[in-house]
Amino acid sequence: MPRSKTPIAESQTEDVEISSVTLARMAANLTDWYHQNARDLPWRNTKNPYHIWLSEIMLQQTQVVTEISYYQRFLKTFPTIRSLAEAPLDSVLKLWEGLGYYARCRNLHKAANQIMEKHGGEFPQTLEGVEALSGIGKSTAGAILTFAYDKPHPLLDGNVKRVLSRLFKIESEVSLAETVQQLWCLSERWLAESRDAYSFNQAIMELGAMLCTPTQPKCLVCPLSQDCLALEAGLQETLPVKKPAKKTPHYDIAVAVIVHRGRLFIQRRPEEGLLGGLWEFPGGKKEEKETIEAAVLREIQEELGVSIEITKALSPVKHAYTHFRITLYPFLCQLRPNHTPESIQLCSAETAEWVEPGALEKFAFPKANLKIFKELKTVLLQS
Ligand code: SF4
Repeated sequence: MPRSKTPIAESQTEDVEISSVTLARMAANLTDWYHQNARDLPWRNTKNPYHIWLSEIMLQQTQVVTEISYYQRFLKTFPTIRSLAEAPLDSVLKLWEGLGYYARCRNLHKAANQIMEKHGGEFPQTLEGVEALSGIGKSTAGAILTFAYDKPHPLLDGNVKRVLSRLFKIESEVSLAETVQQLWCLSERWLAESRDAYSFNQAIMELGAMLCTPTQPKCLVCPLSQDCLALEAGLQETLPVKKPAKKTPHYDIAVAVIVHRGRLFIQRRPEEGLLGGLWEFPGGKKEEKETIEAAVLREIQEELGVSIEITKALSPVKHAYTHFRITLYPFLCQLRPNHTPESIQLCSAETAEWVEPGALEKFAFPKANLKIFKELKTVLLQS
Protein backbone atom coordinates (compact mmCIF):
# COMPACT_ATOMS: atom_id res chain seq x y z
CA MET A 1 0.00 0.00 0.00
CA PRO A 2 1.54 3.36 -0.97
CA ARG A 3 1.93 5.63 2.02
CA SER A 4 3.19 9.20 2.00
CA LYS A 5 4.55 11.01 5.03
CA THR A 6 1.40 13.15 5.38
CA PRO A 7 0.26 13.08 8.98
CA ILE A 8 -3.48 12.52 9.60
CA ALA A 9 -3.69 15.50 11.91
CA GLU A 10 -1.39 17.38 14.22
CA SER A 11 0.25 15.83 17.25
CA GLN A 12 -2.49 13.37 18.28
CA THR A 13 -2.06 11.32 15.13
CA GLU A 14 1.59 11.84 14.34
CA ASP A 15 2.21 8.09 14.48
CA VAL A 16 -0.45 7.38 11.81
CA GLU A 17 0.65 8.41 8.36
CA ILE A 18 -1.40 7.89 5.26
CA SER A 19 -2.04 9.90 2.12
CA SER A 20 -5.26 11.61 1.16
CA VAL A 21 -5.29 9.60 -2.06
CA THR A 22 -5.20 6.35 -0.09
CA LEU A 23 -7.92 7.52 2.26
CA ALA A 24 -10.10 8.52 -0.70
CA ARG A 25 -9.61 5.11 -2.32
CA MET A 26 -10.43 3.35 0.96
CA ALA A 27 -13.56 5.48 1.38
CA ALA A 28 -14.66 4.59 -2.15
CA ASN A 29 -14.08 0.86 -1.48
CA LEU A 30 -16.05 1.11 1.72
CA THR A 31 -19.04 2.94 0.23
CA ASP A 32 -19.13 0.64 -2.83
CA TRP A 33 -19.28 -2.32 -0.47
CA TYR A 34 -22.05 -0.61 1.51
CA HIS A 35 -24.16 0.03 -1.58
CA GLN A 36 -23.93 -3.63 -2.52
CA ASN A 37 -24.43 -5.12 0.93
CA ALA A 38 -26.37 -2.71 3.15
CA ARG A 39 -29.21 -4.16 5.16
CA ASP A 40 -32.61 -2.68 4.41
CA LEU A 41 -33.42 -1.11 7.78
CA PRO A 42 -36.50 1.06 8.34
CA TRP A 43 -34.53 4.09 9.53
CA ARG A 44 -32.45 4.03 6.34
CA ASN A 45 -35.54 4.78 4.28
CA THR A 46 -36.31 8.11 5.89
CA LYS A 47 -34.86 11.58 6.22
CA ASN A 48 -37.13 12.36 9.17
CA PRO A 49 -34.75 13.52 11.96
CA TYR A 50 -37.12 12.29 14.68
CA HIS A 51 -37.11 8.75 13.25
CA ILE A 52 -33.33 8.80 12.79
CA TRP A 53 -32.79 10.17 16.30
CA LEU A 54 -34.98 7.42 17.78
CA SER A 55 -33.15 4.70 15.84
CA GLU A 56 -29.75 6.03 16.90
CA ILE A 57 -30.73 6.13 20.57
CA MET A 58 -32.23 2.63 20.47
CA LEU A 59 -29.18 1.26 18.64
CA GLN A 60 -26.80 2.49 21.35
CA GLN A 61 -27.31 -0.60 23.50
CA THR A 62 -29.63 -2.82 21.47
CA GLN A 63 -29.23 -5.31 18.64
CA VAL A 64 -30.86 -4.36 15.33
CA VAL A 65 -33.20 -7.39 15.34
CA THR A 66 -34.60 -6.39 18.73
CA GLU A 67 -34.71 -2.73 17.86
CA ILE A 68 -36.88 -2.97 14.73
CA SER A 69 -40.09 -4.00 16.49
CA TYR A 70 -39.59 -1.48 19.32
CA TYR A 71 -38.83 1.26 16.78
CA GLN A 72 -41.96 0.54 14.78
CA ARG A 73 -44.23 0.31 17.83
CA PHE A 74 -42.76 3.48 19.27
CA LEU A 75 -43.42 5.49 16.10
CA LYS A 76 -46.92 4.08 15.79
CA THR A 77 -47.75 5.25 19.31
CA PHE A 78 -45.78 8.51 19.16
CA PRO A 79 -45.67 9.49 15.48
CA THR A 80 -44.37 13.01 16.11
CA ILE A 81 -42.03 14.79 18.48
CA ARG A 82 -45.06 16.65 19.84
CA SER A 83 -46.94 13.42 20.63
CA LEU A 84 -43.87 12.09 22.45
CA ALA A 85 -43.39 15.33 24.40
CA GLU A 86 -47.04 15.41 25.47
CA ALA A 87 -47.20 11.77 26.58
CA PRO A 88 -46.79 10.95 30.28
CA LEU A 89 -43.33 9.50 31.01
CA ASP A 90 -45.02 6.37 32.39
CA SER A 91 -46.52 5.46 29.02
CA VAL A 92 -43.22 6.13 27.21
CA LEU A 93 -41.38 3.89 29.69
CA LYS A 94 -44.03 1.20 29.23
CA LEU A 95 -43.28 1.13 25.51
CA TRP A 96 -39.56 0.91 26.26
CA GLU A 97 -40.07 -1.94 28.75
CA GLY A 98 -37.57 -4.76 28.11
CA LEU A 99 -35.11 -2.65 26.08
CA GLY A 100 -33.09 -1.74 29.16
CA TYR A 101 -30.89 1.32 29.75
CA TYR A 102 -33.95 3.34 30.69
CA ALA A 103 -32.03 6.62 30.98
CA ARG A 104 -32.17 6.61 27.16
CA CYS A 105 -35.94 6.64 27.30
CA ARG A 106 -36.18 9.33 29.97
CA ASN A 107 -33.73 11.51 28.01
CA LEU A 108 -35.67 10.98 24.79
CA HIS A 109 -38.83 12.21 26.49
CA LYS A 110 -36.99 15.14 28.06
CA ALA A 111 -35.37 16.09 24.74
CA ALA A 112 -38.74 15.97 22.95
CA ASN A 113 -39.95 18.57 25.45
CA GLN A 114 -36.80 20.64 24.92
CA ILE A 115 -37.43 20.59 21.14
CA MET A 116 -41.00 21.76 21.70
CA GLU A 117 -39.95 24.54 24.08
CA LYS A 118 -36.74 25.78 22.46
CA HIS A 119 -37.15 24.92 18.77
CA GLY A 120 -40.90 25.17 18.22
CA GLY A 121 -41.15 21.42 17.63
CA GLU A 122 -38.58 21.41 14.79
CA PHE A 123 -35.53 19.20 15.23
CA PRO A 124 -32.44 21.48 15.38
CA GLN A 125 -30.01 21.42 12.45
CA THR A 126 -26.75 22.53 14.06
CA LEU A 127 -24.26 20.42 16.01
CA GLU A 128 -24.55 22.76 19.02
CA GLY A 129 -28.35 22.63 18.92
CA VAL A 130 -28.48 18.83 18.70
CA GLU A 131 -25.76 18.24 21.29
CA ALA A 132 -27.60 20.48 23.75
CA LEU A 133 -30.53 18.02 23.82
CA SER A 134 -30.70 15.54 26.68
CA GLY A 135 -29.03 12.21 26.00
CA ILE A 136 -27.34 13.17 22.71
CA GLY A 137 -23.55 13.11 22.52
CA LYS A 138 -21.26 14.30 19.74
CA SER A 139 -21.31 11.06 17.73
CA THR A 140 -25.10 10.64 17.85
CA ALA A 141 -25.54 14.31 16.93
CA GLY A 142 -23.20 13.80 13.97
CA ALA A 143 -25.11 10.73 12.83
CA ILE A 144 -28.48 12.50 12.97
CA LEU A 145 -27.19 15.55 11.10
CA THR A 146 -25.54 13.42 8.42
CA PHE A 147 -28.43 11.01 7.92
CA ALA A 148 -31.28 13.52 8.14
CA TYR A 149 -29.73 16.62 6.60
CA ASP A 150 -26.69 15.31 4.65
CA LYS A 151 -24.39 17.45 6.76
CA PRO A 152 -20.93 15.84 6.96
CA HIS A 153 -20.06 15.22 10.60
CA PRO A 154 -17.63 12.54 11.81
CA LEU A 155 -18.88 9.69 14.01
CA LEU A 156 -17.23 7.77 16.79
CA ASP A 157 -19.57 5.17 18.25
CA GLY A 158 -18.35 1.76 19.44
CA ASN A 159 -18.40 0.25 15.95
CA VAL A 160 -16.47 3.13 14.42
CA LYS A 161 -13.88 3.09 17.22
CA ARG A 162 -13.27 -0.59 16.58
CA VAL A 163 -12.95 -0.21 12.81
CA LEU A 164 -10.57 2.76 13.06
CA SER A 165 -8.45 1.17 15.79
CA ARG A 166 -7.91 -1.88 13.61
CA LEU A 167 -7.60 -0.21 10.27
CA PHE A 168 -4.96 2.25 11.51
CA LYS A 169 -3.49 -0.09 14.15
CA ILE A 170 -4.07 2.14 17.17
CA GLU A 171 -2.47 0.25 20.04
CA SER A 172 -3.12 2.60 22.94
CA GLU A 173 -5.98 1.83 25.31
CA VAL A 174 -9.18 2.85 23.53
CA SER A 175 -10.91 4.66 26.38
CA LEU A 176 -7.99 7.01 27.09
CA ALA A 177 -8.75 10.64 26.28
CA GLU A 178 -5.73 10.89 23.93
CA THR A 179 -6.83 7.79 22.03
CA VAL A 180 -10.38 9.07 21.71
CA GLN A 181 -9.02 12.37 20.40
CA GLN A 182 -6.82 10.52 17.91
CA LEU A 183 -9.80 8.45 16.71
CA TRP A 184 -11.94 11.59 16.28
CA CYS A 185 -9.16 13.07 14.12
CA LEU A 186 -9.03 9.91 12.01
CA SER A 187 -12.79 9.80 11.64
CA GLU A 188 -12.87 13.44 10.59
CA ARG A 189 -10.03 13.24 8.15
CA TRP A 190 -11.23 10.05 6.49
CA LEU A 191 -14.76 11.43 6.16
CA ALA A 192 -13.30 14.54 4.47
CA GLU A 193 -11.85 12.29 1.77
CA SER A 194 -15.16 10.59 1.03
CA ARG A 195 -17.47 11.80 -1.72
CA ASP A 196 -20.74 11.13 0.06
CA ALA A 197 -20.91 11.67 3.82
CA TYR A 198 -24.26 9.88 4.18
CA SER A 199 -23.01 6.67 2.57
CA PHE A 200 -19.61 6.87 4.22
CA ASN A 201 -21.02 7.21 7.74
CA GLN A 202 -23.62 4.50 7.16
CA ALA A 203 -20.91 2.29 5.66
CA ILE A 204 -18.41 2.55 8.49
CA MET A 205 -21.10 1.72 11.05
CA GLU A 206 -22.35 -1.16 8.89
CA LEU A 207 -18.82 -2.52 8.49
CA GLY A 208 -18.39 -2.51 12.28
CA ALA A 209 -21.73 -4.26 12.76
CA MET A 210 -21.41 -6.84 10.00
CA LEU A 211 -17.73 -7.59 9.25
CA CYS A 212 -15.39 -5.86 11.68
CA THR A 213 -17.17 -7.42 14.63
CA PRO A 214 -15.79 -7.50 18.21
CA THR A 215 -14.73 -11.13 17.83
CA GLN A 216 -13.84 -13.10 14.71
CA PRO A 217 -13.83 -10.20 12.23
CA LYS A 218 -14.57 -11.36 8.69
CA CYS A 219 -11.39 -9.97 7.15
CA LEU A 220 -11.48 -12.34 4.19
CA VAL A 221 -14.49 -10.55 2.75
CA CYS A 222 -13.69 -7.08 4.08
CA PRO A 223 -13.46 -4.34 1.42
CA LEU A 224 -10.64 -2.70 3.42
CA SER A 225 -8.48 -5.77 3.99
CA GLN A 226 -5.71 -4.65 1.62
CA ASP A 227 -5.25 -1.45 3.66
CA CYS A 228 -5.87 -2.79 7.16
CA LEU A 229 -2.80 -2.39 9.36
CA ALA A 230 -4.16 -4.62 12.12
CA LEU A 231 -4.69 -7.45 9.64
CA GLU A 232 -1.20 -6.94 8.22
CA ALA A 233 0.21 -7.25 11.76
CA GLY A 234 -2.11 -10.11 12.79
CA LEU A 235 -3.72 -7.87 15.44
CA GLN A 236 -7.30 -7.89 14.13
CA GLU A 237 -8.52 -9.93 17.12
CA THR A 238 -6.43 -7.99 19.64
CA LEU A 239 -7.41 -4.42 18.78
CA PRO A 240 -8.91 -2.24 20.10
CA VAL A 241 -7.03 -2.46 23.39
CA LYS A 242 -9.46 -2.35 26.30
CA LYS A 243 -9.00 -1.90 30.03
CA PRO A 244 -8.79 -5.24 31.81
CA ALA A 245 -12.35 -6.19 32.78
CA LYS A 246 -13.20 -6.01 36.47
CA LYS A 247 -14.90 -8.94 38.12
CA THR A 248 -18.66 -8.40 37.85
CA PRO A 249 -20.19 -8.19 41.33
CA HIS A 250 -23.25 -10.24 42.22
CA TYR A 251 -26.01 -9.26 44.65
CA ASP A 252 -28.80 -11.26 46.24
CA ILE A 253 -31.97 -9.17 46.31
CA ALA A 254 -34.96 -9.95 48.53
CA VAL A 255 -38.28 -8.98 46.95
CA ALA A 256 -41.64 -8.72 48.72
CA VAL A 257 -44.82 -9.29 46.73
CA ILE A 258 -47.22 -8.00 49.37
CA VAL A 259 -50.79 -9.21 48.84
CA HIS A 260 -53.71 -7.49 50.54
CA ARG A 261 -57.33 -8.37 49.71
CA GLY A 262 -56.29 -9.77 46.34
CA ARG A 263 -54.24 -6.71 45.35
CA LEU A 264 -50.47 -6.37 45.08
CA PHE A 265 -48.31 -3.53 46.33
CA ILE A 266 -46.09 -1.91 43.70
CA GLN A 267 -44.04 1.28 43.87
CA ARG A 268 -42.42 3.62 41.37
CA ARG A 269 -38.70 4.32 41.55
CA PRO A 270 -37.47 7.94 41.56
CA GLU A 271 -36.89 9.25 38.02
CA GLU A 272 -33.17 9.80 38.48
CA GLY A 273 -30.84 6.82 38.84
CA LEU A 274 -30.83 3.18 37.85
CA LEU A 275 -34.18 1.99 36.40
CA GLY A 276 -35.55 5.46 37.19
CA GLY A 277 -39.31 5.90 36.76
CA LEU A 278 -40.00 2.15 36.54
CA TRP A 279 -42.35 0.24 38.83
CA GLU A 280 -41.17 -2.59 41.08
CA PHE A 281 -42.02 -4.75 44.03
CA PRO A 282 -40.27 -3.41 47.14
CA GLY A 283 -37.17 -5.08 48.58
CA GLY A 284 -33.43 -4.74 48.58
CA LYS A 285 -29.97 -6.22 48.95
CA LYS A 286 -29.29 -9.00 51.39
CA GLU A 287 -26.58 -8.07 53.85
CA GLU A 288 -23.63 -10.27 54.69
CA LYS A 289 -24.49 -13.06 57.15
CA GLU A 290 -28.21 -12.25 56.85
CA THR A 291 -30.67 -14.85 55.55
CA ILE A 292 -32.70 -13.86 52.52
CA GLU A 293 -35.91 -14.22 54.58
CA ALA A 294 -34.54 -11.85 57.23
CA ALA A 295 -33.52 -9.46 54.45
CA VAL A 296 -37.03 -9.19 53.05
CA LEU A 297 -38.54 -8.51 56.50
CA ARG A 298 -35.87 -5.88 57.28
CA GLU A 299 -36.08 -4.18 53.89
CA ILE A 300 -39.85 -3.75 54.09
CA GLN A 301 -39.63 -2.44 57.64
CA GLU A 302 -37.00 0.11 56.51
CA GLU A 303 -38.56 0.96 53.16
CA LEU A 304 -42.26 1.04 54.03
CA GLY A 305 -42.32 1.23 57.84
CA VAL A 306 -44.52 -1.86 58.19
CA SER A 307 -44.05 -5.46 59.33
CA ILE A 308 -44.86 -8.32 57.01
CA GLU A 309 -44.89 -12.09 57.19
CA ILE A 310 -43.81 -14.45 54.44
CA THR A 311 -46.48 -16.79 53.11
CA LYS A 312 -44.58 -18.44 50.25
CA ALA A 313 -41.20 -18.35 48.54
CA LEU A 314 -41.29 -18.05 44.74
CA SER A 315 -38.55 -19.25 42.41
CA PRO A 316 -35.37 -17.16 42.32
CA VAL A 317 -34.73 -15.14 39.17
CA LYS A 318 -31.29 -14.35 37.77
CA HIS A 319 -30.59 -11.22 35.77
CA ALA A 320 -27.48 -9.52 34.43
CA TYR A 321 -26.95 -5.78 34.11
CA THR A 322 -23.90 -4.22 32.45
CA HIS A 323 -21.85 -3.80 35.61
CA PHE A 324 -23.37 -6.32 38.00
CA ARG A 325 -25.54 -9.42 38.23
CA ILE A 326 -28.40 -10.10 40.60
CA THR A 327 -30.50 -12.98 41.88
CA LEU A 328 -33.97 -11.91 42.94
CA TYR A 329 -35.59 -13.95 45.70
CA PRO A 330 -39.30 -13.13 45.55
CA PHE A 331 -41.60 -13.89 48.47
CA LEU A 332 -45.36 -13.71 48.67
CA CYS A 333 -46.04 -11.75 51.85
CA GLN A 334 -48.88 -10.20 53.79
CA LEU A 335 -49.05 -7.35 56.26
CA ARG A 336 -48.95 -8.39 59.91
CA PRO A 337 -52.38 -8.13 61.55
CA ASN A 338 -51.59 -4.85 63.32
CA HIS A 339 -50.61 -3.17 60.01
CA THR A 340 -52.82 -1.86 57.21
CA PRO A 341 -52.11 -0.35 53.79
CA GLU A 342 -52.60 3.06 55.43
CA SER A 343 -49.64 2.35 57.75
CA ILE A 344 -47.26 2.30 54.79
CA GLN A 345 -44.84 5.21 54.52
CA LEU A 346 -42.81 5.49 51.34
CA CYS A 347 -39.12 6.09 51.95
CA SER A 348 -37.34 5.47 48.67
CA ALA A 349 -40.16 5.36 46.11
CA GLU A 350 -42.02 8.29 44.57
CA THR A 351 -45.46 6.78 44.52
CA ALA A 352 -47.18 3.44 45.07
CA GLU A 353 -50.35 1.56 44.13
CA TRP A 354 -52.30 -1.55 45.10
CA VAL A 355 -53.17 -3.31 41.85
CA GLU A 356 -55.05 -6.41 40.70
CA PRO A 357 -52.60 -9.07 39.42
CA GLY A 358 -54.14 -8.73 35.94
CA ALA A 359 -53.32 -5.01 35.88
CA LEU A 360 -49.55 -5.45 36.35
CA GLU A 361 -49.02 -5.34 32.58
CA LYS A 362 -50.21 -1.75 32.47
CA PHE A 363 -47.11 -0.60 34.36
CA ALA A 364 -43.52 -0.49 33.12
CA PHE A 365 -41.35 -2.90 35.14
CA PRO A 366 -37.65 -3.80 34.84
CA LYS A 367 -37.07 -7.01 32.91
CA ALA A 368 -35.97 -8.87 36.05
CA ASN A 369 -39.35 -8.18 37.72
CA LEU A 370 -41.20 -9.30 34.59
CA LYS A 371 -39.65 -12.73 35.04
CA ILE A 372 -41.52 -13.08 38.35
CA PHE A 373 -44.97 -12.38 36.86
CA LYS A 374 -45.68 -15.75 35.28
CA GLU A 375 -45.18 -17.83 38.40
CA LEU A 376 -46.84 -15.19 40.52
CA LYS A 377 -50.07 -15.35 38.51
CA THR A 378 -50.16 -19.15 38.64
CA VAL A 379 -49.64 -19.15 42.40
CA LEU A 380 -52.24 -16.45 42.99
CA LEU A 381 -54.79 -18.31 40.87
CA GLN A 382 -54.26 -21.44 42.96
CA SER A 383 -54.57 -19.66 46.30
S1 SF4 B 1 -9.66 -6.32 7.52
FE1 SF4 B 1 -10.58 -7.24 9.29
S2 SF4 B 1 -9.83 -6.06 11.05
FE2 SF4 B 1 -9.42 -4.87 9.20
S3 SF4 B 1 -11.17 -3.49 9.00
FE3 SF4 B 1 -11.63 -5.32 7.77
S4 SF4 B 1 -12.75 -6.69 9.14
FE4 SF4 B 1 -11.77 -5.11 10.41
